[in-house]
Amino acid sequence: MNAASRFVERGDVLSWGRVVRRPQRLARPHFADELPALLDDPAATDSLLAIGLRRSYGDSGLNSEGAVIDMTGLDHFIAFDAGTGLLRAEAGVSLSQVLQLVVPKGWFLPTTPGTRFVTLGGAVANDVHGKNHHRAGSMGCHVTRLGLLRGDGERLELSPEENAGLFAATIGGLGLTGVIEWVELKLAKIGSAFLDVEIIPYGSLDEFWALAEESTERFEHTVAWADCMPAGRGRGVFSRANWTYEGDYKAHGDRAWKNMPVDLPGFTLNKLSVSAFNEFYFRAHRWKAGRVRQHYSVFFYPLDAIHNWNRLYGKRGMLQFQCVVPWASARPAMDALMAAIAQSGQASFLTVLKTFGDIASPGLMSFPRPGATLALDFPNRGEETLALMGRLDAITREAGGALYPAKDGRMSREMFRLSFPRWEEFAQAKDPKMNSDFWRRMAA
Ligand SMILES: Cc1cc2nc3c(=O)[nH]c(=O)nc-3n(C[C@H](O)[C@H](O)[C@H](O)COP(=O)(O)OP(=O)(O)OC[C@H]3O[C@@H](n4cnc5c(N)ncnc54)[C@H](O)[C@@H]3O)c2cc1C
Repeated sequence: MNAASRFVERGDVLSWGRVVRRPQRLARPHFADELPALLDDPAATDSLLAIGLRRSYGDSGLNSEGAVIDMTGLDHFIAFDAGTGLLRAEAGVSLSQVLQLVVPKGWFLPTTPGTRFVTLGGAVANDVHGKNHHRAGSMGCHVTRLGLLRGDGERLELSPEENAGLFAATIGGLGLTGVIEWVELKLAKIGSAFLDVEIIPYGSLDEFWALAEESTERFEHTVAWADCMPAGRGRGVFSRANWTYEGDYKAHGDRAWKNMPVDLPGFTLNKLSVSAFNEFYFRAHRWKAGRVRQHYSVFFYPLDAIHNWNRLYGKRGMLQFQCVVPWASARPAMDALMAAIAQSGQASFLTVLKTFGDIASPGLMSFPRPGATLALDFPNRGEETLALMGRLDAITREAGGALYPAKDGRMSREMFRLSFPRWEEFAQAKDPKMNSDFWRRMAA
């Protein structure tokens, strides 16, 4: 790389799935006034992309032909009003850092993905959703203002009223409208740091639908773990929860229980080991079934207890698949998806089934929409895994559904365009300087 460049070529900059392995030119600024110079850097001549904590699974956070700005050094809080719950922070602040600041003051994120190791910028750029989608919608519904640096150096403030078109394109805009410098967010009031959780093992998808329907009104958070292996297909464990109001506002600690120090051999997760795990998990939850009080870190972020758990999938990494299918086709589509997985002989270790509500996001390219969503991860076995995912795509397409770019590294252009019918409008708002490996595949 040119000696005058502020970017360094690195071979260890991977997304969470660890399948795509291409060197990235990366710079990690610590102050916002370093950003303009990066726009003109020789390494960024082709294009640029801001990235966060790299919790996206595929190639939406990679830019092999240009350069990437790692925003995690821009992690300063700008303002927090503990009376109203309005927070403004630089985009590299993580959800974990936000919680440590705001939980002791009685506030929580309006919605949260299943890991707190996500930056505010990444959460906006993927318009992330959580277990409370039916009550709160996605993250974009709670963003009040954004600071955006465009590729030509212009600094803009965006809100639903000011630069509204660009605001809509930036929520779920995959980093392609510019560098999000800061985010202003309306937090949610909580009565304590604990939730009353009900754990309900169920035996079939019919039972899942009944539980989902009866829980929507009464519970703020709902989610299910689902078994897709032939022996247990259709069964699962439904969790539903509400915040308690007993006033202990203890934020989570920083220590993970464990670290995955090395890649496990690729064959560790196979249909036998996953079937055995599922059997154990289901039985353990049948035993634990009932009500339990859990700290938010246990309920929302169980996987964060093991750092680098993605190494469990071995050197070849894992492929994620997450779809949403509309209500009208949700039941037959979920039956068909589960059947296809069971027949494939491949094993999804972490399968999550959830329903979305009908609160619309302001984002032009937002993934959540009314219906049901299924998230799966498969150890990467090359063609065999891609073939299965192609079958899952076909079922999703037939059902009128969509795929989630945050989880994707291989969807077809056709599938992308069907998933995001407003993509051409979005392409008009895209910043010509910004690009990603994902966007090159989808729209170039
Ligand atoms: C264990 C686990 C559980 C998850 N659970 C959920 C879930 O329940 N719901 C859900 O919606 N997602 C979930 N995800 C996905 C994750 O929330 C998203 O991929 C999130 O966007 C990652 O944020 P990040 O900071 O790691 O960003 P990255 O993955 O680094 O980047 C994501 C996107 O954001 C863009 N971006 C990042 N920072 C900026 C910035 N400052 N300006 C402009 N663009 C930027 C990047 O260009 C890229 O397009 C999960 C991921 C993991 C690993």
